[in-house]
Amino acid sequence: MTTPTDQAAIIRGGRLLDVRAHRAEPGDILVLGDTIAEIGAPGLTAPVGARVVDASGMLLHPGLINGHTHAHGNLAKGMGDLWTLELLLTAGPWISGGRTLLDRHLSAKLGAVEMVLKGCTAAYDLPLELPMPTLEGVEAVGRGYADVGMRAVVAPMVADRTFYEAIPGLLEVLTPALRQDVGGLRLAPWKTTAASLRTVLHGWTLDRDQVRLAVAPTIPHHCSNEFLRACADLAREHGVGLHTHVAESKVQAVVGLQHYGKTPTAHLDDLGMLGPHFTVAHGVWLDGDDMQRLGDRGASVCHNPGSNLRLGNGLADMRAMLEHGVNVGVGTDGANCSDNLNMYEAMRLASLVSKGRSPDVERWVRTDEVAVAATEGSARALGFEGRLGRLAPGYKADIVFLDLHHPNWIPLNDPTNQLVHTEDGGAVTHVMIGGRLVVEHRRVTTVDVSALAREVEAARRRLTETAAPAKALYEQLAPLVGRFCPGLAHVPYHVSRYVGGA
Ligand SMILES: [Zn+2]
Repeated sequence: MTTPTDQAAIIRGGRLLDVRAHRAEPGDILVLGDTIAEIGAPGLTAPVGARVVDASGMLLHPGLINGHTHAHGNLAKGMGDLWTLELLLTAGPWISGGRTLLDRHLSAKLGAVEMVLKGCTAAYDLPLELPMPTLEGVEAVGRGYADVGMRAVVAPMVADRTFYEAIPGLLEVLTPALRQDVGGLRLAPWKTTAASLRTVLHGWTLDRDQVRLAVAPTIPHHCSNEFLRACADLAREHGVGLHTHVAESKVQAVVGLQHYGKTPTAHLDDLGMLGPHFTVAHGVWLDGDDMQRLGDRGASVCHNPGSNLRLGNGLADMRAMLEHGVNVGVGTDGANCSDNLNMYEAMRLASLVSKGRSPDVERWVRTDEVAVAATEGSARALGFEGRLGRLAPGYKADIVFLDLHHPNWIPLNDPTNQLVHTEDGGAVTHVMIGGRLVVEHRRVTTVDVSALAREVEAARRRLTETAAPAKALYEQLAPLVGRFCPGLAHVPYHVSRYVGGA
């Protein structure tokens, strides 16, 4: 019983969440094709023959939008525990390398299945493909989303420096043998990667309303300035987004100052890269000037509190971002570093991290601000402003149905507070995307999840074997990286700014 998108559907009997008002009044929703045509009081008139979707006893909220994740991470969940961001990057060739086209497809599909089951209808995804993205590789990811019926912006991560080349002094602490090994990870010259990105952007065949592209220079100092400019030019030429990890770890903040003599954000601004199409992932170590620049340019920050806690990166200041006029979205980050793709958990953590920063209650973000960030804020970062993130006429019919008989909602006191602080995905019953029920009675309707599990297990076994040499290399590198990088982070930030010449 999926809803064909070329016909009308009327959703009757539900309570419609108004996150700003902290209210959920009864109302019906008329869906024409993939779009919400009308919202009205119970008994709303529908065209003859419109399919009736029963939402009695349910709370309806706009699909959550994951502003930052990584498709490749889904095959690597659970592979590490005591990982800083720098150790995660060291583990990259082991946990994310050697992937076939099938692996890329399965990994994306698995993530999409998890997200729709947990009330998320669109994601900004930054997949990794080494040594550079190919049309087939990026399409394999895009088709994973399309198969499940989820929306995505797929932004292949690109760089022209390895992690070892990007961190000053790191190569020097490696043994000559290890230096030679990591030399083998060298990336393609930036012109080659830029040409490949251009091929991907030109050759894209998927429906851009469902799966579109963007460009992701992975971390600014992992890219030469020439390459950063080329990425910005490609994004501009093709009218797509730019997404990069900025000020995620303190190591990044310190190294950015060493590289540029100013913050990475100031550097990107001076290169002309900031704008409404630009998204910072994380932004834990942004200063007030950085936030002002992002706000003035209409840029977004995707806040990933679960990942920031898990990798020891710190607590991003969402209140300050909002005060500086930055558009804030919310994300989970990849399953390889924050374990699940649960946007309810991400919202709860966004609220809690704000509260954990200080006892100054006036600086805390409210649940409605978090819920708006995880819907409208993320939608704007994905380039879907005005079409995703709200239950309103003219918006896509991306709607989550929560069972109000689930303990999360007994009793129902304040729907916005409970959405952010109490709901954990357990009450998700149906999920509609573009008028089509991709989850119905807690089951994915579009793909065979049991078959997917078998295929993923076969991939896992194969990858465990093929990645053994990369794992062995990681085990030699980890103690060295694990000692060297925290040393950079222990420099007081104001001193590192001074040393960096800013
Ligand atoms: Zn990331």
